[in-house]
Order: sequence, then C-alpha cells, then structure tokens
Amino acid sequence: MSWVNYFKDHGIRITKGRISILNIIESSTKGLTAENIYYECKKKNENINLSTIYRTLELLEEKNILKKINIDGPAIFVLKKEGHMHTLRCDMCNKSVEIQCPMEEIEESIKTQAGFSLTEHKLELKGVCDQCKNDEKK
Ligand SMILES: [Zn+2]
Ligand SMILES: [Zn+2]
Repeated sequence: MSWVNYFKDHGIRITKGRISILNIIESSTKGLTAENIYYECKKKNENINLSTIYRTLELLEEKNILKKINIDGPAIFVLKKEGHMHTLRCDMCNKSVEIQCPMEEIEESIKTQAGFSLTEHKLELKGVCDQCKNDEKK
C-alpha cells in the first residue's frame, strides 16, 4: 500500500517524516517503541527528533493507522490490522456475541518477552450473558 495515497485519501498532511516512520514500522517484524524508531531514522541518516516521532506516532494512532500497545516498559507501536473476531456463547441461552480479538497485546508481549511469534491461537471463552445473569438473580 502506498502511504502517500492513503494520506491523500484520508486528508492527512504528507510529510517525509511521517512516511519514513510508517515505512520503518511496516518493515519491522515486531512492534517498535518511539526510541527504536528514532534509532532506525538515525541509521538511515534521517534527522527526525524524538519529540516529532512521539507526536507523529500519536497522530497516526489517532488516525487509526497505528495501534499503541502498552506492555511492560515503553509503549510499542504496530500497524493496525484488520482484527478478527471471536464468538462468545452464553452457557444458558446459547446467544452468541462477537468480540474483537483480545490477543494482539498478548501476542506482542510474547514476542518481546519470549522471542516467539504466534502463528495461531484458539480461544475458548465461556460465560453467561448479562440477561441470563440478571434473570438468575431474580
Ligand atoms: Zn444468556
Ligand atoms: Zn484471535
């Protein structure tokens, strides 16, 4: 995907720094902190100061391009993926509810802490919906 076109389509001002930061995040296999990005910019001889990087990351998060993940230590940034959904099914009435996958944070923290990339996960979530919970109380 071309970031320049994406920015144009979404009315985001195009700056060299913003594009470089996105390219760095895109080519990384794991989430990056602002400092990681600062270091990568330096390696490429691009002078972007740390506070600009912080501001850019915040803006890109606001624009729904990046996702900020808070795990132990400084926040890391990844490209926002089309998240998949998981289904919750109520034990009592069998009603099902879809929720956004809650595993993204966990995946990043596993990557950082254990150096291990998940390729698949299965979640089994059991519970009772609010309605049944309230009915039970009566
Ligand atoms: Zn229920
Ligand atoms: Zn999932």
